[in-house]
Parts: sequence; structure tokens; C-alpha cells
Amino acid sequence: MPDKLADLFSRVVDHAIGARDSAASRPHRPELDYAQMLARFDAPTPEAGAAGADVIADLIEKATPGLAAMTGPRFFGWVIGGSHPVGVAADWLTSAWGQNAANAIATPAASAVEEISARWLLDILDLPREASVGFVSGATIATFTCLAAARSEVLRRAGWDPEADGVFGAPEVTVVIGEDAHSTVFQALKYLGFGDTRLSRVAVDDQGRIVASEFRRALRDARGPKIAIAQAGHIISGAFDPLAEIASASQEAGAWLHIDGAFGLWARAASDRAHLAEGIELADSWATDGHKWLQTPYDCGYAIVRDAAAHRRAMGMTASYLPTVNDRNPSDLTPELSRRARGFATWAMIRALGRKGIAEMVSRHCAQAQRLADKLAAEPGVEIVHDVVLNMVAARFGTDLDEDTADRLTRAAIERIQAKGDCFVGGATWRGRQLIRASVINYGTTDADIDKSAAAILDGWRAAVQAGE
Ligand SMILES: *Cc1c(COP(=O)(O)O)cnc(C)c1O
Repeated sequence: MPDKLADLFSRVVDHAIGARDSAASRPHRPELDYAQMLARFDAPTPEAGAAGADVIADLIEKATPGLAAMTGPRFFGWVIGGSHPVGVAADWLTSAWGQNAANAIATPAASAVEEISARWLLDILDLPREASVGFVSGATIATFTCLAAARSEVLRRAGWDPEADGVFGAPEVTVVIGEDAHSTVFQALKYLGFGDTRLSRVAVDDQGRIVASEFRRALRDARGPKIAIAQAGHIISGAFDPLAEIASASQEAGAWLHIDGAFGLWARAASDRAHLAEGIELADSWATDGHKWLQTPYDCGYAIVRDAAAHRRAMGMTASYLPTVNDRNPSDLTPELSRRARGFATWAMIRALGRKGIAEMVSRHCAQAQRLADKLAAEPGVEIVHDVVLNMVAARFGTDLDEDTADRLTRAAIERIQAKGDCFVGGATWRGRQLIRASVINYGTTDADIDKSAAAILDGWRAAVQAGE
């Protein structure tokens, strides 16, 4: 048995070393598409078992051509952290140790590591040290968790107990939110029974920031319990809502203020960007990700709630067969009971980078975003459509062409750039126009990677124009 185990695990290690060592030099795109991958994996339901080492070898062989280059240093699609090797190693241990991290008595190491990592996170992000932190799968569920606490608390203050009595017949809660909030926030609001069409949506400016005066008015005009939602880090421009003004308006209106800071909250860690998030510490809850800027592997977000009692009221669970503790119980702060021990990867990444390393990385990515923006904007007919304040760059191509032609050529250019694979950028439509969009957020990205990527993007654009696509 020991030999078999060594064979199984070392095969994975050997493969992973090769995959990571070659990540920078491989094309930054999958070789095969979804339909081709379906065909590769398609097989009848296995009746008999198979040797583990063979299964894993087959998985590696089949999956490899369909893997996205999300750990590559020139991958700028969406907002994708790099799954840092130290986080990956901690994540392997998490799986190997097989801890069900629900309960502090049952899994003391997993639970203690969460509590200590939570303290470090609050320190690095400079948020109220009394806040409680739930380790969840990502910012979507972090926002869901935070808004469940918000719902509990604003209704409790209005004399209603939603944990006991549900939401039917409860006093109506007004939710005030910016028009450009991330789609996952609207999703979380749907899960919580707030729907989509009943929200009070506030206009945003040309950077996608909430117009503070309108936000204040919407809060002031509302009656009854109120939840206010703002964001740190717009998904296209990287802009921050005017958080200090929003916080004071929320306080005046007696509203719970939640912040979606999936990646932007990490600006708090870098001295040259922290000013963007000024006032954020006045909020009541914050959602952020470990698997974006902290570079943990996927499945890692944090639900941070100032009012620990509201957090526990919304998420805590008791059952006669579960050990009861007075300590911090991981499952009291997240929607799930059984789950992996997410704290290990977080603990390892904070140890590996340190406060200084995180600050340096965030600053570097923001400077590299500016570098990329400058190189793109030097091309005639290319315009960066927002102020580059963080790590996001969104550019319009073909400003000298009619708009439909420009949009069509931009889409063709994105296809060319992705197909060539020197770097990966995606597209977005914002204010009705097709853009090329990049997020600099991989730990391994160098200035040389930025220069190579800028050249690849401009080559793709010129080729699309020349072909008249
Ligand atoms: C990524 C992101 C989310 C969603 O986070 P997940 O980790 O994908 O659940 C929410 N808001 C913003 C601004 C994001 O960038």
C-alpha cells in the first residue's frame, strides 16, 4: 500500500511541477474547446473500478489540452488570481489531511488556523479588529453571507425576527445599490428574497462610481429598514465608489452598509493605493476573495462582518449530534456545514508573502496596469476609457472608425489575440461599446510580460484592421 500511495501522489507532483514550470512559455489559451473536451471525456458509466494511478494518469492526459492558462503570467482575463505554488502546496495538504472544517472540537488545527488567519486578514486589510470572518468559497457567497447578517440585523431593529419568522410579512427592506454593481451581488440579493426589480438602483458616473448625492437621496427617501451596498473595485474600470460619503449617508439613514471588495479591498494593503478605499472601514460588512489578489488556489473568499452576533444569528447552526463549543466554530460563520479547511491556504499565503509582500504585489500590479495602458494608448485610434486607478485596463480600439466597424474589428482582434496565445485578454461591453479588457493580478507577471502582451494586443488589432474583419 505505501508504494502505491507514493506512486499515486508522486505522479501528481511530477506532473504539477512540469505544468507550472512551463506555464509561462505555453500558449495562454486552451488548445481544445468545450465540445472537443466533451468528446475526449465521453465514455459509458464505469461499471468496474480501475487502478488509482491509471485513473490519475488518464485524467492528466485527457484534461491537459483543455486547461486554461489561468496560472500564466500573461493571463489577464476576468479577474483571476494565479494560484501561487505555496497556496497550492497548502491546498494539497488540505485535501490530503481530509479535514471537515465545520467544528472547532472536531478539527482543532483547521479551526485555529482560520481564527489566526482571520486576525491577520483584518490587520492587513485594516478593518475593525472585532469583526468576524467566515471562510467561504468566494466573494459571491461572501456577499450572500454578509447580506444575510444585514437582513437579520435591520429586521431585528424593526422588531422582526427573520431567523424565526422568515421574510413573508416582514417589514419591507429597502436595498440601495449602484447601477454598476457586480452581477454576483444582484445574485446574492435574489437568494435572500430581495429580488431584482425591487432594488433602489442609483446612477453612476463615467468611471462607474455611484453618484453620492443620489445615493444619499435614495437612502433618505426610503422608510423602514435599509441596506446600502457599494463597491471597492469596479469590474471594468477598477474605480471605487465614494466610500467616505456613502458611509456617512448610510450612518445618517441608519442603513447597514455592505462593501463588495472582491479584489479592490486589497488596495488597503498597499500604501500607494489605500487612499482609494478611505472610509471603507466605516462599513458594516465586506466581501473579498483570497483566490484573486491573495493568490490562494480557487475556492477561497472571506465574509467579514463587524457585528459578530448578527453574523452568527444569520449563519449559526446547532444540532444534537454536533459538538457544541463556545469557541469560534467555522460553520457558524458560513452557509455550509461540511467543507474543506480553507484556512490552511490562506495562512500559508499570508506567511509566504507577508504584509510587505502583499503590499508590494498590489502596488506592482497597479503600476503594471498603468504601463499596459500607456503602451496601448500610444497607438493611434486607441483610447483607455477610464482613469487607471487600480489593476484594471479597458481600452476602446478604432476611435477613428465608425462605431459599429470599430466594435466588430475589436471583437475580431480579441479572437486573434486569444488564438495566438501570447497573452490572454477578454472583451466587455460598457456604455454600449466593445472594449478590450485586462486585469493584472498574477503574482508572476513581470514588466517584460506586460511589454510582450501590449505588443501582442496591438499586433492582433492591426491584423484585424488589415484583414478588414
Ligand atoms: C470576482 C468578483 C465577484 C465574485 O467573486 P467570486 O469569487 O467569483 O464569487 C464579485 N464582485 C467583484 C467586484 C468581483 O470582481
